[in-house]
Amino acid sequence: APINNALGFHVGDRLLREVAERLRVHVSDRYMVARLGGDEFALLIPGIGEEEAQAQAQRLVSLMRMPLSLEDQRLDVDIRLGIVMFPRDGTSAADLLRRADLALALASRRHNGFAFGSEVADQPRHEHLTLIGDMRTAMAENEFVPFFQPKLELVSGQIVGAEALLRWQHPTRGLVPPGTFIPFAEQTGFIREITPWLLATIIQQSAEWHRAGLSLVTSINISTLDLTGRQLVIETGRLLREHGLPPDLICLEITESALMDDPEVALRHLGELAALGVKLSIDDYGSGQASLGYVQRLPVHELKIDRAFVDKVDCRGKSAAIIRSTILLCEELGLSVVAEGVETDAELDWLKRNRCGLVQGYRIAKPMPAAMFRQWLAD
Ligand code: C2E
Ligand code: CA
Ligand code: CA
Ligand code: CA
Repeated sequence: APINNALGFHVGDRLLREVAERLRVHVSDRYMVARLGGDEFALLIPGIGEEEAQAQAQRLVSLMRMPLSLEDQRLDVDIRLGIVMFPRDGTSAADLLRRADLALALASRRHNGFAFGSEVADQPRHEHLTLIGDMRTAMAENEFVPFFQPKLELVSGQIVGAEALLRWQHPTRGLVPPGTFIPFAEQTGFIREITPWLLATIIQQSAEWHRAGLSLVTSINISTLDLTGRQLVIETGRLLREHGLPPDLICLEITESALMDDPEVALRHLGELAALGVKLSIDDYGSGQASLGYVQRLPVHELKIDRAFVDKVDCRGKSAAIIRSTILLCEELGLSVVAEGVETDAELDWLKRNRCGLVQGYRIAKPMPAAMFRQWLAD
């Protein structure tokens, strides 16, 4: 389904046949292939050691990653492998599959595309599995809801944008904050399903505001995993065209850590996203191993000063110096600068005096559902 969405026409059957053909090249009569469900398969290879397994994994990954050409479209295919060894990683099918699943999650965060069961800690998995199941249901049942927090431009006093912050309206647990499920979704790779969904929701919402004559830049947070493949690039381009939304009304917030994992690949995809015309923002600026090299190499539009620095900034000290120099840096480089987590009048005054461009925080407004945000803007 995501493939059909990405290309806007039906390629499912042909794609499956092409992929099956590739597998046939790799698989010998001694192997056993089984479909676990969805797009997950198990490949059972008797009588090989870890070294041979690694060599096979490398071959399979490069074979599968060759782009496909279908109906004049180039299609990037990706594969992830979680590899377990019998009997070292378990003696029952359930144990082996559980470990393979953990290895698969680890592989999702790697560029080489595979990981071994021996590399992951053995942790109770029941709670995790329920949570993943819950997240699947949540998406199908529309339990995920984006909230919006306004961004205020200090000189003009205008609301110039809003950041989308995800909430989970859980049927029994109530409103679940992202801090409890986003890290987990990132760890398991499930974020790859959330982000494209959220992006579609946000672009649709933003297009609606645009048609209503509001001039707002909507920001969305993206994760490391969203940058390992080209899906986000393709989806963003397609959605912008579909909704006829000016690309510069969308801003992607990236944390510094998102860039660290595999900087080259992440940078390439961010470059492609910027080429579509969307804005890029460096989130939590100053909290990571801040590398100004990234700011130099990427067409970044905005820096967001981490909340930790804004906290009690009026007391002077180091935070004040860091914020002031970030504001200066942004002026020099022609970037927007946002101070996030602004909670008090004192903080707001200090930021005004120091000519900070934009502010965001509870002092302005808490994140709220779209309808409430529209109402808040009107009031
Ligand atoms: P973030 O991107 O740094 O977002 C800012 C967080 O600070 C939000 O927390 C926001 O509600 C909170 N905040 C805003 N103003 C204030 C303030 O004045 N005081 C205090 N104490 N907090 C304030 P939230 O919504 O719980 O999100 C936490 C983090 O979860 C976000 O940090 C972001 O990293 C992540 N997140 C949220 N939504 C998404 C999403 O859709 N995708 C991804 N990948 N991550 C998300
Ligand atoms: Ca953010
Ligand atoms: Ca932030
Ligand atoms: Ca943060």
